[in-house]
Amino acid sequence: MLNKIPRKDFLKLSLLAGIGVFGTQRNLFEDDFFYQPATNVVYYKKGDAEYDLLRKGFNKRIDKYPAVIALCKNTQGIAEAINYAKQNFLSVTIKSGGHCMEGFSCNNDGMVINLSLLKSIEWIDANTVKIQPACTLSQLYDELLPKKKMIPGGSCAGVGIGGLTLGGGYGLMSRRYGLTCDSLTEVTMVDGNGQIRNSANDPDLLWACKGGGNGNFGVISEMKFKVHDAPATLQSVRFRTHNVTVAKAKSLMQQWFLLTETLPQSAFSAFLLNGKTVYILLTNSEAHTAETKKIIASLSKISETTSTSLPKEISAALKVYYGQTQPVYFKNASAGLYKSFDDIAPFIETVIQTVINTPRMIYQVNTLGGNIQNPDFAAASSFPHRDYIYFSELQTYWEVPSKSEKLIKQFEAVQQIFRQNNIKAQYRNYPDINFENPQELYYGDNYQRLQQLKLKYDPQNLIRGEQSIKV
Ligand SMILES: Cc1cc2nc3c(=O)[nH]c(=O)nc-3n(C[C@H](O)[C@H](O)[C@H](O)COP(=O)(O)OP(=O)(O)OC[C@H]3O[C@@H](n4cnc5c(N)ncnc54)[C@H](O)[C@@H]3O)c2cc1C
Repeated sequence: MLNKIPRKDFLKLSLLAGIGVFGTQRNLFEDDFFYQPATNVVYYKKGDAEYDLLRKGFNKRIDKYPAVIALCKNTQGIAEAINYAKQNFLSVTIKSGGHCMEGFSCNNDGMVINLSLLKSIEWIDANTVKIQPACTLSQLYDELLPKKKMIPGGSCAGVGIGGLTLGGGYGLMSRRYGLTCDSLTEVTMVDGNGQIRNSANDPDLLWACKGGGNGNFGVISEMKFKVHDAPATLQSVRFRTHNVTVAKAKSLMQQWFLLTETLPQSAFSAFLLNGKTVYILLTNSEAHTAETKKIIASLSKISETTSTSLPKEISAALKVYYGQTQPVYFKNASAGLYKSFDDIAPFIETVIQTVINTPRMIYQVNTLGGNIQNPDFAAASSFPHRDYIYFSELQTYWEVPSKSEKLIKQFEAVQQIFRQNNIKAQYRNYPDINFENPQELYYGDNYQRLQQLKLKYDPQNLIRGEQSIKV
């Protein structure tokens, strides 16, 4: 507990923090714990009223208890916090939006650098914005889309631009504009020595932060992005088939893979198996071409029902996919990146059978490809999976902690099927604590170069978590 300050100043701070995003929980600053605003960083420990709110993330399944939480107000505050951690032999993890599915932004007994006060967006010129890492996707879209500009991000409103970008970042617009990290042009980082670096004179740093930067080298405090002209509208088509058998689900999936090989760059598609229902989503941010209409007609023919929305104004259309903003109990992880159906054909029936038999389990395959495969983007980034045009994920959600153990066991059984069948490439932003040699799965051929950079930026391995880059 540090110096008290007038309540009105602190209420201003609390508005900036926006921590009230987690709805029903009380506001961080509603009690009488008011601190000195002139400091660059405020430290919280167990027992402090704000400690719990600052440590918790979006996944209610994960509970960790850091020794110290450093709530930083600026880059200088981050540097001070890093020095504090060094002096006190504390490992450091970093929290921006708090949406890491395995809770890697928190730790036990170390320091969490909490960046929730750093969420501003500043226009540098008509095509460049400077964004702080805790800025959420809904905040980003609300700022850019009214100006007819866009950075391709993910779907969910509360995800932080920090974690999203540093691991890659895919969404409905990635096939058109590339991954989120492909629009990143500059970063400022406080490294593991407490030194403030800028990528303008360090191209390796920018390369590393485009896919390999989550909690590995230092704390990113600012990011510059190129913005794109936004599409005016987005149109969605949904296909549904109920009561599928294993054979039917497999056949639908195989046909979906074949049809989506020729999707235009403006379109995205997802195949989803939830119980005995197959859902297929197709979105398009341009008018349908003859080729797209053919794909839609074919998907319609193989599905039980088809519902088509009219093209919707882009910002309203994206809101449809904002999802849940309150924390939930869940497990959601990468289940492999694939080049085609052939990668999973020999064993997918076993996966489908398990998903059909397991209430609450969802298996989803999403299209990548398109402009994600742009060779310029590939050369400029450490994101290693550009050759894979499908990304799959396994998900399960529940309401009470007593359900966790059983559901996680079932989840792990499906992940074992992929593992035993040599599915290797995995997306870092959908980590699984049970992956073996996770760094190799996430970073592929770029892992060694990333390890060399880890030695350069954080030789003492201060910034570390369960699956961070090893030195
Ligand atoms: C509901 C939900 C929906 C999602 N939808 C998508 C989607 O559509 N597309 C997609 O690509 N991903 C999606 N994701 C995954 C998401 O991209 C990752 O969870 C991402 O890492 C979250 O970033 P964050 O800042 O919110 O999380 P945090 O938990 O704060 O951080 C995530 C990781 O990045 C590190 N990190 C965070 N900030 C910094 C920083 N400033 N400097 C260095 N390291 C940092 C953390 O230490 C941690 O390892 C989704 C996740 C959830 C829970």
